[in-house]
Amino acid sequence: PVSMVHLLRDAAAAHPDDEAVVELDGGRLTYGRLWERAQRVAGGLRAAGVQAGDRTAILLPAGTDWTLAFLGSMVAGAIVVPVNTRFAEPEVAYVLEDSAAAYVFRPGEPLPDGDPVVVEPEHADVAAIFYTSGTTGQPKGALTTHEAFLSNCESMLRATPDDDRDAVTGQAYRTLISVPLFHVTGCNSQLLTALYVGGTAVILPALDVGRLLRAVGEERISALTTVPAIYGLMLAHPDFPSTDISSVRRASYGGAPIAPALVHAIKRAFPEARVSNGFGMTETAALACGLPDEEAAEHADSVGWPVPVVDLALFMTDPETGVGELLMRGPTITPGYWNKPEKTSEAFVDGWLRSGDLARVDDEGRVYIVDRAKDMINRGGENVYSVEVENALAGAPGVAEAAVVGVANPVLGEAVGMVLYPRPGQTVDPQNVLAYLRGRIADYKIPQYAVVRDEPLPRNPGGKILKRPLRDSDDWGDR
Ligand code: ATP
Ligand code: MG
Repeated sequence: PVSMVHLLRDAAAAHPDDEAVVELDGGRLTYGRLWERAQRVAGGLRAAGVQAGDRTAILLPAGTDWTLAFLGSMVAGAIVVPVNTRFAEPEVAYVLEDSAAAYVFRPGEPLPDGDPVVVEPEHADVAAIFYTSGTTGQPKGALTTHEAFLSNCESMLRATPDDDRDAVTGQAYRTLISVPLFHVTGCNSQLLTALYVGGTAVILPALDVGRLLRAVGEERISALTTVPAIYGLMLAHPDFPSTDISSVRRASYGGAPIAPALVHAIKRAFPEARVSNGFGMTETAALACGLPDEEAAEHADSVGWPVPVVDLALFMTDPETGVGELLMRGPTITPGYWNKPEKTSEAFVDGWLRSGDLARVDDEGRVYIVDRAKDMINRGGENVYSVEVENALAGAPGVAEAAVVGVANPVLGEAVGMVLYPRPGQTVDPQNVLAYLRGRIADYKIPQYAVVRDEPLPRNPGGKILKRPLRDSDDWGDR
């Protein structure tokens, strides 16, 4: 197809009665109904004065209305801006102003309705602006083209072995979306990919792990995709052992670093499923590298190989360790950030996107994301990758969650600090944790500072640990 609009129209013509989108405890849309209603949303937008190229912003919770707002905007030729529903008022105001939204989809208001309208976009047209997660700074609006959406769907399809797509309830592919739709994993790699393959996207409107587990059996989910943090919650949930996972063919994770210990736990928990890692960024319209099931156990710390349409390179590589900044190029890569020419020029070198991630590549081409450049700690001249220390801490006695950050130190410049959150009903003794680490990682990587929190680590909706507040906290005490 040329665009998401063409894709939707073709799918509605080919299998109008198949189920396309399900909102748990809400409505269900067939492909026929989805196409018909998206055209009417487009007509309503036109009647409200929205022209092709105008921005429409979605403030709705995840669900069928969200999907209609998203696709209806594209059918009207508008550029759709999914807004983070966890944003506070001033942050929402920033996005609406930054994108100069001509129309805002708000909760409690009926979707726009009018005479049907269809605009046929070009392949290279910008279809959406997705804001990055804001893990390392202010969210940036990445322009996303129809071509990028479609190439990502194709990459997802190619990353899925044929027998994974076997009919489960008569329809090929049923994915459960428990991550936000305003980020690319939920939207591009789950919702749009389900539509691309003629499957069904089942949407959990708000995170409720008990409901998520029940939905797996009730909705006969074939593809479970979510972030490492939610796998952690699922596996620890008292209902997990009695959850019906007989329909699950695939259990994939990504979007944030995962501790190898959790990969092994997922493998054990889903013995019949293919387990896989996916690496990507908002700027890559989702999937850029994937690690297939055969590799997941042995190379649990890798994100695998680049998808066929993405080229990779390493930049400013350290000759001793082979670690450099990961660069990417290809049709899924954003042409730039909305309204941010300086951020755009900083983000590219010679047409390659700078990921901000440090990576290395092994002899067989597997990619390892070692850390964010901004999270790497320079301890008196030695580089310490926070992710490596966090992975080691994942198995430490009493530790439920751990984050590692650089702490200013008068002698070393920067020293290693660990923030720990205990398992329920347990206490964490930093001395025991340090004893556990010794021998597992090199001496210079062992933390000098420890903080034990009485609440879980701060995370964004994608489950990523927000390290800035941890780094800036007063808890590190006098140094
Ligand atoms: P911001 O750019 O606003 O600081 P962000 O980088 O977290 O936020 P996203 O585009 O949602 O915003 O996330 C992309 C980043 O997530 C990648 O650059 C990488 O650091 C991390 N990431 C994604 N998938 C994986 C994975 N499978 N393993 C390790 N890290 C991952
Ligand atoms: Mg980023």
